[in-house]
Amino acid sequence: MYFKTLEKTDCSGCTACVSACPKHCIAMKPDEEGFFYPVIDKSVCIECGLCEKVCPFENPKYENTEVTDVYACYVRDKKQRQRSTSGGLFYAISQWVISNGGIVYGAAFDKDFKLHHIGVDNMADLERLRGSKYLQSYLGNTFCEIKNHLKSGRWVYFVGCGCQVAGLNAFLRKKHDKLITSDLVCHGAPSQLMFDWHLDYLRRKEKGEIISYTFRDLEGWGGCESYEYDSQTNGKGKRRNPTYFTSPYLYSFMWAYNYRYSCYDCKFARVPRQGDVTLADYWGVAKYFPELDMSKGVSLVLVNTFQGVKIWDAIKEVLEYRKSNVLEAAAENGNLVHKTAMPPIRPMCYQMIRERGYDDVAMKEFRVDKYWRKRIKVFLSSTKLWKTIRQIMKKIK
Ligand SMILES: Cc1cc2nc3c(=O)[nH]c(=O)nc-3n(C[C@H](O)[C@H](O)[C@H](O)COP(=O)(O)OP(=O)(O)OC[C@H]3O[C@@H](n4cnc5c(N)ncnc54)[C@H](O)[C@@H]3O)c2cc1C
Ligand code: SF4
Ligand code: SF4
Ligand code: SF4
Repeated sequence: MYFKTLEKTDCSGCTACVSACPKHCIAMKPDEEGFFYPVIDKSVCIECGLCEKVCPFENPKYENTEVTDVYACYVRDKKQRQRSTSGGLFYAISQWVISNGGIVYGAAFDKDFKLHHIGVDNMADLERLRGSKYLQSYLGNTFCEIKNHLKSGRWVYFVGCGCQVAGLNAFLRKKHDKLITSDLVCHGAPSQLMFDWHLDYLRRKEKGEIISYTFRDLEGWGGCESYEYDSQTNGKGKRRNPTYFTSPYLYSFMWAYNYRYSCYDCKFARVPRQGDVTLADYWGVAKYFPELDMSKGVSLVLVNTFQGVKIWDAIKEVLEYRKSNVLEAAAENGNLVHKTAMPPIRPMCYQMIRERGYDDVAMKEFRVDKYWRKRIKVFLSSTKLWKTIRQIMKKIK
């Protein structure tokens, strides 16, 4: 138990304890790596034990069905699909909830690129929630807000990593007719501090401000950093790193260098899942459903509860979908069924950046072997010249 051991592997930062404490004497405070942990003000604590009892990392529950309905799907509306990370299922559920007077909670950047969970109840604001942000979102007072909305009889849709959904369920303690939850298949989350370091690196590189940032491209399907900058020397522009290894942030994320310690001991990277509906990318879908259009991404969806079945039935007419199963789905998406192993670099990752600076670590450790060779290949493959070279090579052979 985190409060007894103070072991970082024992706490996912879900805020269930903070939200449950009757004396409001627990605050989330960042450690030296920028991850938030609960700290008790002992002078106010009455030792009721509720914070320990509610903790889903200490007492994980697996109440959803193991025999889940698995689908490969995407929203048929091409425009909406393109604005989402994979198949846009989050959008379809949110649309249903908002049109029924409800509120949707998900992760959004503020103007300083700090990631928080916020609640939105109109389609314009929903845009801020869309798209994956690969760092841990700050939950703040979200769980208490959700409880109040449910009390007032409103529909609520909450989306978060498995530990966050488990935290909400643990805090609420009972099922609510008007609550829908979605857990993301998740391999782990770096801290806000790591992302802040990366943004500062981009500011130095571009000699100016970063105006917008996305972790996934809207043009295709897959890891791809793109951002807009306003440079003091070159004016405004847009940069696109077409694969994950051309961005030090995405590279270190993909290789699990900098996750929260609890992620390497995740209790929720398994079936049964935590949400009513699990959302993910259907990597490897071409093998099973080659007839589907894969150009803008295909969602992997697991319908895990009766509530999940109800929402699936309500929205399925706007979807193109095929029935699949856990075995097929997990073949190229391991974190659906198991946690990520900790790589040897993790314990010194943040310290290394403090000592040597982000730029140096980005250029040496957060970089693929034979970086320039691969980078040139990526550049060439995006040009007509590459096609011509390949045609000539084919002829020579
Ligand atoms: C840290 C992280 C790791 C992931 N790892 C995997 C993986 O290994 N395999 C896989 O298949 N999918 C993974 N995903 C999920 C995937 O990227 C898509 O979010 C998912 O497929 C849903 O796509 P969508 O098009 O339906 O919705 P989207 O438009 O992408 O929206 C999804 C919802 O997720 C919320 N969200 C975004 N970022 C965060 C965050 N940091 N914390 C909490 N909520 C957030 C958004 O607010 C939105 O509500 C991960 C997501 C995150 C945030
Ligand atoms: S023991 Fe009770 S009062 Fe003390 S921090 Fe935990 S929940 Fe709050
Ligand atoms: S309830 Fe959540 S935040 Fe509190 S100790 Fe447990 S995992 Fe950490
Ligand atoms: S890997 Fe597990 S502990 Fe880490 S953010 Fe994802 S769900 Fe939470």
